[in-house]
Amino acid sequence: METCPACKAPFKGGQTCHRCKSDLRPLIAVAERAVACLAAARAAFGQNDYQTACGLACQSLALKRSQEAESLCRYAGFLAGRQRTIRLAPADSKGNRAARKQSPVTSPG
Ligand SMILES: [Zn+2]
Repeated sequence: METCPACKAPFKGGQTCHRCKSDLRPLIAVAERAVACLAAARAAFGQNDYQTACGLACQSLALKRSQEAESLCRYAGFLAGRQRTIRLAPADSKGNRAARKQSPVTSPG
């Protein structure tokens, strides 16, 4: 948070805005939660748990946009996808994998 969302005064680190006295604690809590999620995502990534890292980074991103969370979300998501691909059942002799179950489509009328 760089400015007060109510009056756009520069954020100076207090729990209330120095200009309009808005209570900034809920916003500070969200920002702190985003930082905690990002730290947990980094730790999961370090443990090669890309699925968890991706989820936590995306959670952090949903709370607060940051370049690191965005990069971690994409990269961990990519690696998690690769892990998932490796765990898939082997392809048949023609190189085809089992067809995905089609989701039912409701026709209008
Ligand atoms: Zn303000």
